[in-house]
Amino acid sequence: MASTTFVIIGASLAGAKGAEALREAGYSDRIVLIGDETEVPYERPPLSKQYLQGKQELEKAFVHPAEWYGDHDIDLRLGTTAAAIDRDGRSVTLADGTRVAYDALLLATGSSPRRLPVPGGNLEGVHYLRRIPDCEQIKATLRTASRVVFVGGGWIGLEVTAAAREAGIEAVVLEADELPLGRVLGPEIARVFADMHRQHGVDLRPGSHVTEILSEGGRASGVLLADGTRIGADAVVVGIGAAPNIGLAEAAGLTIDNGVRVDASLRSSDPHVFAAGDVANAFHPLLGKHIRVEHWDNARKQPAVAARAMLGEEAVYDRVPYFFTDQYDLGMEYSGYIEPGGYDDVVVRGDLEGREFLAFWLADGRVKAGMNVNIWDVNKQIQQLVQTGGRVDAAKLADADTPLDQVAAS
Ligand SMILES: Cc1cc2nc3c(=O)[nH]c(=O)nc-3n(C[C@H](O)[C@H](O)[C@H](O)COP(=O)(O)OP(=O)(O)OC[C@H]3O[C@@H](n4cnc5c(N)ncnc54)[C@H](O)[C@@H]3O)c2cc1C
Repeated sequence: MASTTFVIIGASLAGAKGAEALREAGYSDRIVLIGDETEVPYERPPLSKQYLQGKQELEKAFVHPAEWYGDHDIDLRLGTTAAAIDRDGRSVTLADGTRVAYDALLLATGSSPRRLPVPGGNLEGVHYLRRIPDCEQIKATLRTASRVVFVGGGWIGLEVTAAAREAGIEAVVLEADELPLGRVLGPEIARVFADMHRQHGVDLRPGSHVTEILSEGGRASGVLLADGTRIGADAVVVGIGAAPNIGLAEAAGLTIDNGVRVDASLRSSDPHVFAAGDVANAFHPLLGKHIRVEHWDNARKQPAVAARAMLGEEAVYDRVPYFFTDQYDLGMEYSGYIEPGGYDDVVVRGDLEGREFLAFWLADGRVKAGMNVNIWDVNKQIQQLVQTGGRVDAAKLADADTPLDQVAAS
């Protein structure tokens, strides 16, 4: 049989895991892994946590050691941008004009930070965090700044805020909504995070709308809010979400719908093109709808399904969505998926004030999502509750003495 080539665009977590999964599945032909960053594929969570805080070496973030790619005969092209996809001719054109033919293509182009659309948004001293160089800049800022304004109280913003406070820097967090994380967690549990940051001395200001980044000598010197308030700062860190990198896919005429729309096997509207990770809006059989998940676990696990589908095998991605965060001394895992307002009850087991608890979001008596905060080795059981979707007894769920596999409603 003629030798084939599988091309992967995006050499980060999903891309590297895709290459790994193809080799593990026994694919021994050519794999070309194309990435526009210059570092070997790495995981991003440490960039807002341990690596940012100087508690972890950069190498620990690498998905594989540098030599792994050569050892597994993967043609890793770093610092290389894929400029176009020719679906009829089944080839990818690189920025230097080189063409790479493919038999199957995996898009793992991820997402990019949303920019703050206000005057001054691109001034020096305004930081966005996605890549290693961004992290290095923020790390340097945390060594010298005395006051930093954070625009956006999402996961990344709050993690960097925690790093700033632990470095003894004054931190002001500006959140447009009533509560940071309110849309993801709902007010009951989002409040736990808001209280924690306030207890650590963060000046948290909900309902704040930034209209301008102020400047002094060409550098960001603070922000102006819609109500006229001016807040001075040595630097501004913006974390207002991310947008999927769909440019290539869109230009190639693939179906786009909040990312590259793919089926449960991660196959796009073109049977030779697949997508995984942050860029993929995949049909999730458990939820019965398409979802795009911007989390580490999804980028880590989806590629194995894409790889099997690329090899013509039956494969479906139906894992319960999962993510984690670490802020100060709080470690948390969350499993499940709920759209804002998509629950009618929150059940807590444990000590909310002491930040050692489990929380469950219920709709119609069924667990739609669950979270463990500073309690470990329960995640599998929480996922099981979400997965099975049976009705539960809220009193048993709240009772720490009732095992989680015995909370079914009678
Ligand atoms: C600072 C930070 C902290 C995070 N912390 C957590 C956490 O605690 N928990 C959690 O669950 N998730 C976390 N995440 C989210 C997680 O890192 C992402 O979900 C994951 O990185 C997605 O991986 P990916 O490979 O799909 O995409 P990405 O990591 O975005 O990688 C896509 C790659 O493709 C490249 N690329 C794009 N277009 C092209 C092109 N045309 N040619 C060549 N290359 C291209 C990009 O430059 C990039 O290298 C964090 C993210 C960040 C930024």
